[in-house]
Amino acid sequence: MDCIFCKIVNGEIPSDKVYEDEFVLAFNDIQPAAPVHVLVIPKKHIESVVALTEEDDKLIAHIFKAIRVIAKEQGLENGFRLVSNVGADGGQSVKHLHFHILGKKQFTENFG
Ligand code: AMP
Ligand code: ZN
Repeated sequence: MDCIFCKIVNGEIPSDKVYEDEFVLAFNDIQPAAPVHVLVIPKKHIESVVALTEEDDKLIAHIFKAIRVIAKEQGLENGFRLVSNVGADGGQSVKHLHFHILGKKQFTENFG
């Protein structure tokens, strides 16, 4: 499959890894939008939030546990922004589920 994040998972493409366990990988975004910009992905290929099924319930809980660990490791006790873009209108450019952790920047803007 021609998926850039699957290639990162299997080591075909290098990444600046910040966290890894059996089910989850996290690495620094190549084009950071904040001083901390980590992408958290499941190792399993899932296209986006809307492609999740009941089978993935445990995996999602696991991803959020990893997000808590990473936020702590990255020193984000003051907060952070957590974003998952979905599909064309969401501006999703990589079609492998991922959560952006954006931190060490004061976000003030809302949406629109
Ligand atoms: P999205 O637009 O939500 O699909 O986010 C995709 C993100 O992946 C963007 O912020 C890109 O900068 C990032 N990205 C794309 N290729 C790589 C890569 N090889 N290593 C790290 N981050 C990447
Ligand atoms: Zn993939």
